Amino acid sequence: MKDLHIDGIWSDAGNHSDVLNPATGQVIEQVAEAGREEVDAAVGAARRAFDAGPWRRTTALERGELLRRTAALLVRDREELARTESLDTGKTLGEGRIDIDDVTNVFRYYADLAGKDAGRLVDAGSATVVSRIVHEPVGVCALIAPWNYPLLQMSWKVAPALAAGNTVVLKPSEVTPLTTIKLVALLEEAGAPPGVVNLLLGPGHVGAAMVEHPGVDLVSFTGGYATGEKIMTAAAKGVRRVALELGGKNPNVVFADADYDTALDYALMAAFVHSGQVCSAGARLIVQDGIHDRFVADLAARADRIRVGDGLDPATETGPLVSAQHRAKVEGYIESALAEGATLRAGGKRPEGPEYENGFFLRPTVFSGCTRDMAIVREEVFGPVVTVERFTEEADAIALANDTEYGLAGAVWTSDASRAQRVAGALRHGTVWINDYHPYLPQAEWGGFGKSGIGRELGPSGLAEYQESKHVYQNIDPVPQHWFKG
Ligand code: NAD
Repeated sequence: MKDLHIDGIWSDAGNHSDVLNPATGQVIEQVAEAGREEVDAAVGAARRAFDAGPWRRTTALERGELLRRTAALLVRDREELARTESLDTGKTLGEGRIDIDDVTNVFRYYADLAGKDAGRLVDAGSATVVSRIVHEPVGVCALIAPWNYPLLQMSWKVAPALAAGNTVVLKPSEVTPLTTIKLVALLEEAGAPPGVVNLLLGPGHVGAAMVEHPGVDLVSFTGGYATGEKIMTAAAKGVRRVALELGGKNPNVVFADADYDTALDYALMAAFVHSGQVCSAGARLIVQDGIHDRFVADLAARADRIRVGDGLDPATETGPLVSAQHRAKVEGYIESALAEGATLRAGGKRPEGPEYENGFFLRPTVFSGCTRDMAIVREEVFGPVVTVERFTEEADAIALANDTEYGLAGAVWTSDASRAQRVAGALRHGTVWINDYHPYLPQAEWGGFGKSGIGRELGPSGLAEYQESKHVYQNIDPVPQHWFKG
């Protein structure tokens, strides 16, 4: 075990922690855990590599080549990475493969984008002035990721950060560190110079020490709202840049004129893929009167048939929750929904059988009769739980969909093209899907309104997060102006 990577050297720090398979509760690996000393060493290495090293003076094409070589290595090791992601997070192997393919595409996208936008010439309105905007890297970036899409969320940060010429210190979630360790090894194999990519492991206090470190210029964080608030507060000291991708409470609005079977099928996927542990999960179904009762009955019947199990079993359709602690939190929300008067239509309990005894499983759960004052409708549950609210008019649907402090994503299902555009235009969410759910594109911005975060990942804005803009102004024919007469 040599899991920390600092200044090009793998090391094994003092404390070690267990990584569990959520389907069995068994320890699959032990990993090293950084202390303050390692945080100092990693930030120091990134600082030196940025200030003195050749990395930021490489051409954008060279940096793009590093990303392209990394993408090729991700393809080579796809199966191993997908299995590791499945073991570590509990997601199905199929989802693990999709994740690794998505990660590869993110690296390819930023490999292509590096250097495409070299800044711009500005018309200064004078024949004797050359004015241009150039992009430069920000410096040392602390990149902190959550446990639900460990490698994918990290790739959204590390690929553009490197493409822009920054040096980075990575910290995956303590719950799911394994694929990020592997990614750092692949970046090293692809030729990342020492100090350019550093890896720290450990729980929140390690992340907090990174964020507080004065050697860090930028923090990019994906995770929960409460942690985001702490990070923003810490980054205020020294006025460091911060990008936050936080939670969501995402509305999935189904009009009676929608293609019924397709909307139903996608509503299940939106709510229960990866056991609902998705920031953009369609956790809040908002269904129009005309189809509401039938939709809820069909949704509950199909939810009851979802095969829950070990992600590596090919028969499994959705896996366990990531930890016992997280399952207990989700169960707490189920209890509160029952206490607040929501009607349980499916699930609400752990699956029964010897194969489920030690893992952190929970049945896909459907509540109807939900109202906007219930905690289960307002707060991010982050588990296999969908609530159903009912509406009559289009304006009611929009009001319900926007009645959240979050604003990450939402969907509208209708066969009326004008209504689709109207509703999409009215939703205060960073991504709106029309007659679809969950797709995202590396070339399209991702991020939230309101409490869902600050900044955008992916697309050209995802690169701009890691760049400073500098105005270079040249007077090509300076002559004395005699500002002062003496
Ligand atoms: P979390 O906030 O508990 O932890 C995220 C990361 O932050 C982990 O690496 C953790 O160790 C670290 N951390 C914890 N405390 C810290 C501190 N004080 N300072 C610095 N780092 C600290 O989140 P989680 O439970 O791992 O992930 C689930 C959350 O992530 C959900 O709210 C989900 O919506 C959100 N998420 C959002 C997106 C998005 O794109 N908006 C994507 C995935 C997940």
